[in-house]
Amino acid sequence: MITDECINCDVCEPECPNDAIYMGVEIYEIDPHKCTECVGHFDEPQCVQVCPVACIPTHPQHVETRETLWQKFERLTAAKQAAQGGGAAGSVPPAAASAS
Ligand code: SF4
Repeated sequence: MITDECINCDVCEPECPNDAIYMGVEIYEIDPHKCTECVGHFDEPQCVQVCPVACIPTHPQHVETRETLWQKFERLTAAKQAAQGGGAAGSVPPAAASAS
């Protein structure tokens, strides 16, 4: 989570490999459904590494094990691949899809 000590410096948003950080009503916020604490991408949460005011503690209501975070990473990766049309059995090739 991002606390109200956030100074909206914009540094963390581009560092998130899951696009989980976004500008909220007043300060940046983290979507807990997308955040894997960088499991699957990096050894440490990148936002925590770059935040100049250290205002990104673990959310007390979203304490997750490494295994749970890894499962979320796998779900997110599968969803991303499905959205890109990659690897799905029976998917229509782009050339065939535009031929109609
Ligand atoms: Fe806010 Fe820290 Fe992100 Fe900067 S890096 S926008 S201070 S949470």
